[in-house]
Amino acid sequence: MSQILKPVLPGATLGVLGGGQLGRMWAHEAQRMGYETVVLDPDAHSPAGWVSHHHIQKDYLDPVALQQLAEQCAAITTEFENVPADALARLSPKASPAANAVAVAQDRSREKAHFVACGVPVAPHAVIETPEQLAQVRDDLLPGILKTARMGYDGKGQVRVRHRAELADAWEALQRTPCVLEKMLPLAAECSVIVARGRDGAMVHLPVQRNLHRDGILAVTEVSAGNISPVLASQAVQAAQAVAEGLDYVGVLCVEFFILNDEHTGELVVNEIAPRPHNSGHYSQDACDVSQFELQVRCMADLPLTQPRQHSAAIMLNLLGDLWFTQGVQAVEPAWSQVLALPGAHLHLYGKAQARAGRKMGHLNITAATPEQARNTALQAAHILGIAPF
Ligand code: ATP
Ligand code: MG
Repeated sequence: MSQILKPVLPGATLGVLGGGQLGRMWAHEAQRMGYETVVLDPDAHSPAGWVSHHHIQKDYLDPVALQQLAEQCAAITTEFENVPADALARLSPKASPAANAVAVAQDRSREKAHFVACGVPVAPHAVIETPEQLAQVRDDLLPGILKTARMGYDGKGQVRVRHRAELADAWEALQRTPCVLEKMLPLAAECSVIVARGRDGAMVHLPVQRNLHRDGILAVTEVSAGNISPVLASQAVQAAQAVAEGLDYVGVLCVEFFILNDEHTGELVVNEIAPRPHNSGHYSQDACDVSQFELQVRCMADLPLTQPRQHSAAIMLNLLGDLWFTQGVQAVEPAWSQVLALPGAHLHLYGKAQARAGRKMGHLNITAATPEQARNTALQAAHILGIAPF
């Protein structure tokens, strides 16, 4: 069903809830396209607040701040899923994605139920909210991973459990907060796909990304032809589109998948969704003719969605705060000039003043004419920076 939409054209003001790196990169892209930007974030030193035309430094649920944001902006989006869904509800109809879609992504139990409702394969799991549900957990879900239903990211709020006694201890340690227990699956690989869906239902997507996680945090994303088997890639895109359609989603949505057993012939299981641009889509900034942040701007502003084209093989290396330290002692900045001497190296730093272990400080996109060249250069960059080879 298509409808005629009146776009919010460049020159207008766009807003975002959240001032992290995703908001910063969104603001840069919106500004490049000629928009004025507003960031709502309580932190005085947020990465996005720093680069935005305006920064409302208030709590996400502050009624005066929300009122100001709604008055200043023609359209509003979010850059992180833990922004209270209620804030988005209050900004309706200017806000996209809508509060109910973000609320599903905020809660692993609801998220899993949504996948099942869309007919998309999920990991075997059980919701644990009561001692009775804990007692009734099926044996075949162990060993597993106990994940808090809400507020988890980068592997935080997750405990690996081998047997029932560990499961019970882990739930106690998580203060009996509502959780989902997921069966530990034999991962052959991981991938994700970014889809963008307009208010008229039109959808486009980025190529399927292959992701390597270390300690529950994304470390490397590799995107080049043949990287993921074409059959699995098209299944991933279809599943992601089904998930977006089922939510009547408007905006950029990332869907993460596990590839089980065998990376070529294995099966795909959906892991989770992020209702915003995603770390695994950052390569699109330098390797595609439309980035995930431009897609976010286009969706919220009701501009046409054109299918992005990847013009270079790409590898993204996440730059975690660990790179600023040697054996736990604060060292100097990483050797950027050596890294930037490599052809096709694109440095993105988020302007965070303090490096901490596990903190996302930036990323490095490597682009090249061939997947082999991209890989060679990325391995050289990793070596210079002290990132383990992959
Ligand atoms: P983020 O939101 O930053 O992506 P998260 O904290 O929500 O992360 P998950 O995506 O649930 O965490 O898990 C992080 C990583 O842990 C996965 O990418 C995968 O490598 C591993 N993992 C999670 N669940 C399972 C599982 N059921 N079986 C095997 N490995 C898993
Ligand atoms: Mg994840």
